[in-house]
Amino acid sequence: MSKIISAIIAFILSANTYTVVYTQESREEIEQTAIVTEDIVQETPEEEISPVKAVTRSPVATSNTSSWWDYPSDIKGVTRSGDDLLVLVNKEYQLPSTYAPTDLVSICSNVTNLRCVNNTNFLIRNILISDLQEMVNAATQDGMDLSIRSAYRSYATQQSTYNYWLSVNGGNVGVTDQISARPGHSQHQLGTTLDFSSGEINDGLGGTFASTQASKWLADNAWKYGFVIGYPAGYESVTGYMYESWHYRYIGKANAQDMINSGMILELYLRSKN
Ligand SMILES: [Zn+2]
Repeated sequence: MSKIISAIIAFILSANTYTVVYTQESREEIEQTAIVTEDIVQETPEEEISPVKAVTRSPVATSNTSSWWDYPSDIKGVTRSGDDLLVLVNKEYQLPSTYAPTDLVSICSNVTNLRCVNNTNFLIRNILISDLQEMVNAATQDGMDLSIRSAYRSYATQQSTYNYWLSVNGGNVGVTDQISARPGHSQHQLGTTLDFSSGEINDGLGGTFASTQASKWLADNAWKYGFVIGYPAGYESVTGYMYESWHYRYIGKANAQDMINSGMILELYLRSKN
């Protein structure tokens, strides 16, 4: 918290001309003020967040692909339970503020060969622990180094996370909504979503992860263990969020296989199921 500002990172979002500025100091402050706080950080130049090979099984947008960077005026409640692996949570469908999974466990007390950055006690639903361990074992065997930057976030934590990004973006709601979910709209509230990093980038956050071998490994293999990328490259206007190479949601092995077979990205696959 006391550190001098060490970096100011700015980039122009490809979808528009807003400039987003992050400071290292403010990031460290928020890391130290809550158990699970880190959200999305875009640190990469524009060219790295353009559609690239990070999603090797290129999804195909097959249904409603209208652009919706903004939240619709008519916000609806989710149509499945928050406990349901296929519940659609996006800018239109919101989880209740009271929803929290009941089987949260510590990731790094239960999974080996996976580093929890800053020794944070990240929480995740117990139902995915064995598949996560299996995935980490396979990644480790292939020489990958994976770490966790964020996992479960409560409604209240998401509120402060969103407010943080709103603040550092000068109150610009339009920009903030492209990089951070409003409370109730975050997949992290489900307890099935993980933000990865790697020693390759010193466990850094955000866009630089797309350049790592770990990122490529996840893009190729995570679905085999039930984890799928939430906001893929090239589908920003479909998901309503900038590309997040690090953000994976667990939907179970069978569902992930079904999604891959369908050719749809997660957003469209879940729309078809909700
Ligand atoms: Zn995330």
